[in-house]
Amino acid sequence: MEKILLKNVIIADGTSEKKADIYIADGVIKEIGAGLEHGADRVLDGGGKTAVMPTLFDMHVHLRDPGQTHKEDILTGCSAALAGGVGGVVCMPNTNPPIDSLETVEYILKKAESTGVEVYPAACITKGMKGTELYDWGRLGVKIISDDGRPVENAELMRQALEMSIENGLLVASHCEDLNIISGGIMNKGKVSEKLGVKGMDRASEDSITAREIALADSCGARIHICHVSTKGSIEIIRDAKKRGINVTCETCPHYFTYTEEKLLARDADYRMNPPLRTEEDRLAVLEAVLDGTIDCIVTDHAPHASSEKADFLTAPNGVVGLETSLAVTLTQLFHTGKLTLNDIVQLMAVKPRTLLGIDVPKIEIGAKANIAVVDLDMEWTVKPEELHSKSHNTVFKGEKLKGRNIMTVTDGIVRYEI
Ligand SMILES: [Zn+2]
Ligand SMILES: [Zn+2]
Repeated sequence: MEKILLKNVIIADGTSEKKADIYIADGVIKEIGAGLEHGADRVLDGGGKTAVMPTLFDMHVHLRDPGQTHKEDILTGCSAALAGGVGGVVCMPNTNPPIDSLETVEYILKKAESTGVEVYPAACITKGMKGTELYDWGRLGVKIISDDGRPVENAELMRQALEMSIENGLLVASHCEDLNIISGGIMNKGKVSEKLGVKGMDRASEDSITAREIALADSCGARIHICHVSTKGSIEIIRDAKKRGINVTCETCPHYFTYTEEKLLARDADYRMNPPLRTEEDRLAVLEAVLDGTIDCIVTDHAPHASSEKADFLTAPNGVVGLETSLAVTLTQLFHTGKLTLNDIVQLMAVKPRTLLGIDVPKIEIGAKANIAVVDLDMEWTVKPEELHSKSHNTVFKGEKLKGRNIMTVTDGIVRYEI
């Protein structure tokens, strides 16, 4: 195994920040201190502007494998993750077949084994993601269940799932969307959808199911995790529920605190995802919720689609890739603007998602296995879709100049990615 010496770096583990050198040998952090001198295979001088953090954990990605491997597969999805400093992911079950059997769970775990990324499959809440019956997820060995891509429409079925999740110790994650309200909508319903003459998705679609899920979880004392929050309304509902002591957590994605529906004026399907980019009022509410802790995690909802599928604005499928840009966008938007500290970002992107799932957070201390992202905080770069490791290039950040970039990812003591 390689010996790695990282000099003049900022160690940010989510609780404290300190400047130091780190020496890694045999895959383990051997020494942390000032002025370390060791013969090493790789020596990197961070110049005081490079952070070392636990690898990030993205609890909401779509790896498209099995079944849609022309968009992404487990290998390319994991290499995109490593490029973004991400060492662990939850992959959502809307694959083909959907993740509702031991066979599919084992297929994913086996294929992910060599990647260096810890892949945690989410299992469907309902058999085949059809929304009609529950099944025995307990025997699948997963930590999280979701019908992401759609809600469980039948509220009583969802209530039963929440009740059952308690005994299995599972986290239930909900894609909050009322399909009857959405019906045929392709972007946020508002001024821009009117201007473009296309059907919009009313914000009430998200808000109403968010409120429903919270009420259902409250009624049986279960945990509920709200996926990809994008509206001011749902944020206010979640903030209120947290105040009332309900066991609700939630996530958002970098695009929701960066962009608005105005991006859709270009009639480019790369800016279409579900939930859609909303209004400036929503963007500011999401931002505020990230800053005040209402939002627990930043995820990507990494949703690769082939360029040919994204070619037509009106008929393209929803979704954007994000694994390779999430940290850089978050640093650009929240760290370099002074809104959050490095440790706040480590909490949102590495610590809290693992904590919600009951997974150990990699430690940066002597004797720990090296599971770290090395991040050049000041590196400026422009997002070029063709340079992404993902099989798909549907990024909303194309052409965007970002500040801060993951330059090395080490998992299990092995350098898996280096710029
Ligand atoms: Zn979703
Ligand atoms: Zn999703």
